[in-house]
Amino acid sequence: MTAPDDVPFRLVIHGGAGAINRSRLTAEREAVYRQVLTQSLNAGYAVLSGGGSCIDAVIAAIVVMEDSPLFNAGKGSVFNHEGQNELEASIMEGATRLAGAVAGITTVRNPIRAAHAIMMKSPHAMLIGRGADTFAAEQGLEIVDPDYFHTPHRWEQLQKALTKEQVLRDHDADSNIPFVSTDEKHGTVGAVALDRHGNIAAGTSTGGLTNKRRGRVGDSSIIGAGTYADNRSVAVSATGTGEMFIRAAAAYQTAAQVMMLRKPLREAADNTLAEVSKIGGDGGLILLNVKGDYAMQFNTSGMHRGTISNDGIAWTGIFPGEPDI
Ligand code: ASP
Repeated sequence: MTAPDDVPFRLVIHGGAGAINRSRLTAEREAVYRQVLTQSLNAGYAVLSGGGSCIDAVIAAIVVMEDSPLFNAGKGSVFNHEGQNELEASIMEGATRLAGAVAGITTVRNPIRAAHAIMMKSPHAMLIGRGADTFAAEQGLEIVDPDYFHTPHRWEQLQKALTKEQVLRDHDADSNIPFVSTDEKHGTVGAVALDRHGNIAAGTSTGGLTNKRRGRVGDSSIIGAGTYADNRSVAVSATGTGEMFIRAAAAYQTAAQVMMLRKPLREAADNTLAEVSKIGGDGGLILLNVKGDYAMQFNTSGMHRGTISNDGIAWTGIFPGEPDI
């Protein structure tokens, strides 16, 4: 199906929210982050501008960030308490409300593709652990040795966390958490897209928390917590303190405000973040609707983020107050 050229489309991405300290981020480092965010936006843009689906755009954008060691998803994921990388991801399509999710996987190079395979090729919405790894292999997805996910700086983060015996959120340097890392740490990745056919989709992928207990599942693989999409409201991807995002049903709560209370997108996201904050969490949300309205809200000191639409100009942001286009 082709659509006229003037039909609006858009992609919005995030690469994690948290304590991103401007004074500690060198100009070179900042440029590298913005470069990968731009690559991710361009990958999604190539799909959308060619008339491809929102789901394919979400996958294309997330795969770039999963393959980059900079982000806590795919390669570059954080380690659990036992020194393993347990990955999770989810994806949802707004037109059909089909969804797929994986958690506790250790061998699939791109967890977002595994989530998509579950959505498309199984009767299930979520698979975990060895069953999910096996399913992904059966579907012909790229399987890697668990060592593929190992990066020295994440290993170092685990050693520090073990020393402090502290479960900490990736990239959290808040003073209310005893463990204060001096490392550059950046997180979970996500994308929401509107395609030329008027459909929206959302996806999220993460390695979770450094020093998390084996088997811990965060919000990123939970439909309604870290990811949600419904053409009647919005597509949403979250990043932040997973336990609180789960307890707040953060992604669904945001969509529900738009659908039932007719809240503008930013207000809905801010309300959700306020609810998350009331139970001790923080983070960020990206969302967009079928008209192409979008928001990128966070209540942390920074969130890697970006957006691109018909004109093909990639906009990226890290700190608060950077004007959206
Ligand atoms: N939400 C993720 C988790 O709890 C972490 C993050 O977004 O930084 O696993």
